[in-house]
Amino acid sequence: MTRLQGRCALVTGASRGIGAAIALRLAAEGASVAVNYAGRADAAAEIVRRIESAGGHAIALQADVSDSKAATALVADATSHLGSLDVLVNNAGITRDGLLVRMSDDDWGAVIDTNLTGAFHTTRAAAKVMMKARSGSIINIASVVGLTGNAGQANYAAAKAGLIGLTKAVARELASRNVRANALAPGFITTEMTDTLPEAVRDGARGLIAMGRFGSTEDIAAAVAFLASDDASYITGQVIAVDGGMTFA
Ligand code: NAP
Repeated sequence: MTRLQGRCALVTGASRGIGAAIALRLAAEGASVAVNYAGRADAAAEIVRRIESAGGHAIALQADVSDSKAATALVADATSHLGSLDVLVNNAGITRDGLLVRMSDDDWGAVIDTNLTGAFHTTRAAAKVMMKARSGSIINIASVVGLTGNAGQANYAAAKAGLIGLTKAVARELASRNVRANALAPGFITTEMTDTLPEAVRDGARGLIAMGRFGSTEDIAAAVAFLASDDASYITGQVIAVDGGMTFA
């Protein structure tokens, strides 16, 4: 498929997990991709190598999205290296789980700063480029936890619910300039983030999923590619759960 031929995409947190799968999928569909990472330069370089060896074009860009200046510079660097910016995927995210009464200010702040404020930083910068071009697609990787809440994840659930609110506000603000904003709400996806959960928690989680299994990073990447493409040209302000039937009413 070459739905994204000639498009330029920035994926935050693309050195591993879901972000890496998104970068690989967007490149496979023809996009030039900026692979952002925080600390793991080797992992990001490996994703760039895989894209280039498949005939695609990619660049690795280090930036901590929670840092306003660094995130703004990241968007500028991606735009100048790639030539434009058509797709922004806000995927970078962390967890610092703990029960509310024991949650430290640091654990609250780190998750809000990366998962929510980081997306605000990159979206604000990208919106200026996309509004000028009168075209763009912003895709925020939220979580089912942002819809349902989850014990032990007050910080993470608040950040993801906030990200959904940000998505809807941005969708309303930018629609007249043909810039779309949507969110995905993944359920349990097999990555390093979920590998660290105790086996009992993973077994319990499987019981909540109608399809009875965790999703793959490619399941999320496929939905991102759709939202990035013209196939989704009349879709904005939506939250799409990709969760194997975990949350439907
Ligand atoms: P992961 O395997 O832990 O990877 C996290 C990625 O984010 C890495 O590339 C990491 O870069 C990057 N990152 C972390 N902090 C950053 C920062 N401050 N600035 C820039 N990049 C940063 O996570 P994942 O499981 O793939 O999750 C990806 C996204 O999906 C997250 O937003 C997560 O909340 C969401 N999600 C995941 C699941 C799941 O089941 N896995 C479910 C729902 C939602 P380095 O490698 O350089 O550290």
